[in-house]
Amino acid sequence: MSEANCIFCSIITKKIPATIIAENDDVIVIKDIAPKAPIHYLVIPKIHVADLLDAQAPTLMAHMIMGVQELCAQKLISTSFRTIVNTGSGVGQTVFHLHMHLLAGKAMSDF
Ligand code: 5GP
Ligand code: ZN
Repeated sequence: MSEANCIFCSIITKKIPATIIAENDDVIVIKDIAPKAPIHYLVIPKIHVADLLDAQAPTLMAHMIMGVQELCAQKLISTSFRTIVNTGSGVGQTVFHLHMHLLAGKAMSDF
């Protein structure tokens, strides 16, 4: 479940601090430490897998999407947002624990 030397596992187990926006049994939502938009959250499954190519990723992605829906239902974010999941260092993945970026608060016309 939890992997040594994984920063997100350490945040999930509260060994290192983060600004927590929401949490349930399956996911934790935190503020990104280096925001790229006025709102920049990370939706992180509590089970450690490296990326989208893991066999467990489809189930974990469903949990992450349900987590985003809860944020909207609780009005913790607006219903206009962009989600990004980086897979691989070639596109800039730096933390190899599956996570979804949730960006909002400005128009993002560039793809
Ligand atoms: P990636 O590039 O892997 O898709 O995204 C990793 C994200 O995690 C980056 O946006 C980076 O700013 C964020 N990040 C890295 N270390 C920490 C940390 O210790 N705390 C928080 N809150 N975010 C982090
Ligand atoms: Zn991890």
